[in-house]
Amino acid sequence: MAGRIVILGVFVADTAYRAARQPRMGETILGRSFALGPGGKGSNQAVAAARAGGDAHIVTKLGRDTFAEMALATWREAGVTPAVTQDAGSYTGAAFIFVDEASGDNAIIVAPGAAGTLTPADVEAQAALLEGAAVFVTQLEQPMPAAIRALEIARAAGVRTILNPAPAAPLEDATLALCDMVTPNESEAEALTGIAVETLEDAARAADALIARGAGAAVITLGARGVLVHDRSRSVQLPAFEVGPVVETTGAGDAFTGAFSTALAEGRDLVEAARFGCAAASISVTRPGAAASMPTRAEIDALLG
Ligand code: ATP
Repeated sequence: MAGRIVILGVFVADTAYRAARQPRMGETILGRSFALGPGGKGSNQAVAAARAGGDAHIVTKLGRDTFAEMALATWREAGVTPAVTQDAGSYTGAAFIFVDEASGDNAIIVAPGAAGTLTPADVEAQAALLEGAAVFVTQLEQPMPAAIRALEIARAAGVRTILNPAPAAPLEDATLALCDMVTPNESEAEALTGIAVETLEDAARAADALIARGAGAAVITLGARGVLVHDRSRSVQLPAFEVGPVVETTGAGDAFTGAFSTALAEGRDLVEAARFGCAAASISVTRPGAAASMPTRAEIDALLG
């Protein structure tokens, strides 16, 4: 039977504005389009895990506002169980995403809101949920002390721990030592090790460096090249699946980490779990949106054959 997956992380409502250029300070310009959708790495990973068939629970904080309703509806539809407190004195996380139509580049302001106030005490209040998990997952969007406390509780209870070290931020060796697995992309692996990850050999060296710093295993996502699964006994590259034209890669890393967690919670071996995650991520890039692009279990199983 599949075990529980507990994800500590952040929900943000992504508000994306497209315009011909960026407004100057003090100026108002007309935009060409607007889109609103659920985002936040923790939330995206929970949605990916649940849609892939996992018993996913999210631990976070929201405000008591319209975007909180959006978060709760997103999780309800995906089958994610919330372990959430709502703070009426704060607000739900939101991101302003400005997209320059000419270049496609974007500029983003993220206001994490209530999730930015997550404390070790908030995590301790969910200790029983965490201790009963098969797999625990977190990222670096919420305050570090909360993530570290959750990793400590999970580790002490024998729960397998996964850290998706995104967005890139410095980490203590003691924190990496609480992680059975880390799932950086190429630039996050470089930020943590100082090794520029261009070739597969670079990725293997970065993985070795992460393991030397305390991580149990490193699973480095390599974009269109798939993933490198690297621990003390093996180094295996799993190619991405060619599913169709790439439409949008936003959330691809979250699709990977979420589905990877589902497979681990079912007791699959590290390489098999990474293959499952890679299949889910490969499907997600052929669709628009982040949470909206996460594939179902049936779609992943069909691809894996
Ligand atoms: P993002 O920040 O865009 O969410 P990321 O940088 O965290 O993504 P990537 O390493 O780019 O993560 O991609 C994660 C996984 O998504 C890859 O391991 C792969 O399985 C899949 N993937 C990404 N890009 C492609 C692509 N062009 N074709 C097929 N699969 C892809």
